Amino acid sequence: KSRAKRFSKGQSKITFDDVAGLENAKRDLEEISDYLRDPGHFRKLGAKIPRGILLMGPPGTGKTLLARAVAGEAEVPFFSISGSEFIEMFVGVGASRVRDLFENAKKEAPAIIFVDEIDSVGRARGTGLGGGHDEREQTLNQILNEMDGFEPHETVVVLAATNRPDVLDAALMRPGRFDRKVTLDLPDRRARLSILKIHSREVPLAQDVDLERIAALTVGFSGADLENLINEAALLAGRSGADQVDMDCVLKSRDKVVLGGVREMALTE
Ligand code: ATP
Repeated sequence: KSRAKRFSKGQSKITFDDVAGLENAKRDLEEISDYLRDPGHFRKLGAKIPRGILLMGPPGTGKTLLARAVAGEAEVPFFSISGSEFIEMFVGVGASRVRDLFENAKKEAPAIIFVDEIDSVGRARGTGLGGGHDEREQTLNQILNEMDGFEPHETVVVLAATNRPDVLDAALMRPGRFDRKVTLDLPDRRARLSILKIHSREVPLAQDVDLERIAALTVGFSGADLENLINEAALLAGRSGADQVDMDCVLKSRDKVVLGGVREMALTE
């Protein structure tokens, strides 16, 4: 069986420049990318790296993007797995997958492991199905065991993302586990403008497109919503045979994203 199927691994080319806004989150995570880039230097100073960081924020606010950017900045391999993949599995499979994932990351350390949707395995125990002996719980226990078992020279940082920090098992947040939290908020007007600029880099915009105005008209949009909006506008322009995207297309797409359910609803699953 191919190992590639068990989790995904890659070298991220995304850097902090691809992430608009989120200045505080970037500042916090810069520490991690600096360490991963040159662990020997930090170790000589007696500095220990945080092992686990929880990225918390509504859907589409850039948690995955930011995790990839940390790996890209540090130029280390990025291993990722999603908590939701474990839900349908037979007992024991999730735990062995986690073991595999950590083993591989340690072999290639320094490295980053990204666990998306950690809440799907990391819900407070005892509230799940199967009287607490289900697959989820074993998977969670294996993640915790792996994190507890890191040797000082194994420079692997685990980033985990959730939009439901309220349901997480407290055991996840103990010292040495996910004892650092980074919060990602929905973008404010300035951040929305930068996100719009990033995602329209490759899009030929007509003279009349006023991104400042779009940024003002998109309160409550996530980064993913804004990316969606630009793409919808480009599709709309394409269908009408235009070779540029004009303001009318962008405004129509905004309405579509708001009304048409193209937009992910914040804070729902
Ligand atoms: P989910 O909780 O739904 O998994 P997420 O927080 O992990 O979402 P991402 O998958 O990182 O969100 O974001 C989706 C896409 O939205 C990104 O690939 C990126 O293109 C865009 N995006 C989101 N936030 C930003 C941002 N701050 N700057 C630039 N692009 C962004």
